[in-house]
Amino acid sequence: MRLDIFTLFPEAFEWFSGQRHVQNAIREGHELRLLNYRDTTPLGAGQVDDAPYGGGAGMVMRVDVVDAALQHAYGDQRAGKRIVLLTPSGRLFDEALARELSEEPQLALLCGRYEGVDERVREHLATDAVSVGRYVLSGGELAAMVIADAVIRKLPGALGHAESAVEESFSEALAGGPEYPHYTRPPNYRGWNVPEVLMSGDHEGIRTWRLERSRERSD
Ligand code: SAM
Repeated sequence: MRLDIFTLFPEAFEWFSGQRHVQNAIREGHELRLLNYRDTTPLGAGQVDDAPYGGGAGMVMRVDVVDAALQHAYGDQRAGKRIVLLTPSGRLFDEALARELSEEPQLALLCGRYEGVDERVREHLATDAVSVGRYVLSGGELAAMVIADAVIRKLPGALGHAESAVEESFSEALAGGPEYPHYTRPPNYRGWNVPEVLMSGDHEGIRTWRLERSRERSD
């Protein structure tokens, strides 16, 4: 996959880009690019925003600036590419959408800032509008990291243990339910015991116990 993140703050992704699963994915041949709208803005002095028509507080990111960034990255080859605008009012991001996006050969995430992005980006340039939750962040960067993280961990080779992604919360292996609880040493801490079955070596019993706990958490 080629994952392109369009942002005014590429430096916000430094920590994220260095994470092991992201580095593993890159080693497997996937690409992560950080593209700064300011580098390709057609306006003078690095301008990317303007006052809203109709008045009101804050500035709005301009459609020509976003279009120029996409044009610079893709030229006229935009057809078929998944271009996701991050916005609080978009489709709620979940595991099913993470899986769907992880199957795209090319994915672009458009981070907004300020009061948001000119609506014509959503209407004419983006293929999707996605929200990471019904709350307002100050910018799309954290939302992009949430989506990129959930998507990248699904790419073959990204996780050290491939099974980790097969059986985790909301996976098919758990019938879409949340994951069961995990425990590690010590077996007794302040009187809080690890369930006996997990230390029994009875694989069938452990499996049954885990599926039951997962089902309980779905209720
Ligand atoms: N005025 C906008 C509103 O009321 O919906 C909020 C704009 S927000 C301060 C600036 C940018 O942060 C948005 O353009 C979007 O890219 C990003 N953002 C904020 N909250 C988000 C969320 N819950 N999901 C996805 N992106 C979000």
